[in-house]
Amino acid sequence: MIRYLYVMISLVIPIYNEESLIDELIERSIKVLAEITDHFEILVVDDGSQDGTLEQLLKHRDNEKRIKILSLSRNFGHQAALTAGLEHAKGDYIAMMDGDLQDPPELLGEMYMKLKSGEYDVINGKRRSRKGSIGRRMLTYIFHKLFKRVSGLREIENVGNYSMLNRNALNGLLALKEKVRYLPGLRSFVGFKQGYIEYIREERKKGKSKMNIWKLWLLGSDAIFSFSKIPLKICLFLGLFGVVVFLLAGIYVLIAKIFGFALLGWSSTLLSIYFLGSIQLTFLGVLGEYVFRTYKESQNRPIYLVKEFYDD
Ligand code: UDP
Ligand code: MG
Repeated sequence: MIRYLYVMISLVIPIYNEESLIDELIERSIKVLAEITDHFEILVVDDGSQDGTLEQLLKHRDNEKRIKILSLSRNFGHQAALTAGLEHAKGDYIAMMDGDLQDPPELLGEMYMKLKSGEYDVINGKRRSRKGSIGRRMLTYIFHKLFKRVSGLREIENVGNYSMLNRNALNGLLALKEKVRYLPGLRSFVGFKQGYIEYIREERKKGKSKMNIWKLWLLGSDAIFSFSKIPLKICLFLGLFGVVVFLLAGIYVLIAKIFGFALLGWSSTLLSIYFLGSIQLTFLGVLGEYVFRTYKESQNRPIYLVKEFYDD
């Protein structure tokens, strides 16, 4: 590979309680980056780990000053940690990658070459296939299909966080200051010329996933509610449909009353109550999702807080 001396590459990695993985992660990342250029930084964001993650990282930093550590004041979550890293990265080309080696660092070279050619501003890692439990794979599959549909974003299906951007595109991404963040969506939203490389998402090397079903649900709903008004449209549509149905039913009731054949309808009354009640609750829930996100934005709290930045 041709080595470039004057460009700088930043690799941003969010880490939460992954002490058993650090050695391999750092070793493989350095090897790949050093093949591209001497001028790189590995910016690891310690997202409030409670195990020996920070000590491990500091140990590596003793030997290799190109490892920078951004230590957050507590656990802020994957997307916040990534944002923190991106805001502190100094490179001309900036990659984001999970720290559990599900995203193989070995792809960075290919991503960089594609960016460097000048044809693209963003290279997304697209998962050709995934490993892991069948339940989780199915949920992810459904989410990606649905999100592509409702968000109207392009090149978004099967795209996660793993990606590399040039400075121009990153500045665009960082200009989006919203608190509710689904980075793959935001990255697609900024536009520029987006390309992708396909890869097989590996199984996690060690440790356990920090994303349980509940957290995945939260991330998925952040993605959908912050990129789509379709849930509201569905509510409106069903609401209007209900109005028509009950208008017709109302006319029938009136006629029945006038002509004296009105029966005491126990089932129909109960069914309407159940139906209307559940529809109203669902709609309130959907509205709540948007109101909650508006509230989060208006609180205007910082997305993350830094405890210490181990920089040069
Ligand atoms: N992570 C983080 N903060 C969190 C949860 C996760 O920085 O609150 C990191 C984690 O250490 C890993 C990456 O984000 O490097 C992806 O997390 P994980 O593998 O648990 O998610 P999954 O791949 O299961 O979606
Ligand atoms: Mg993972």
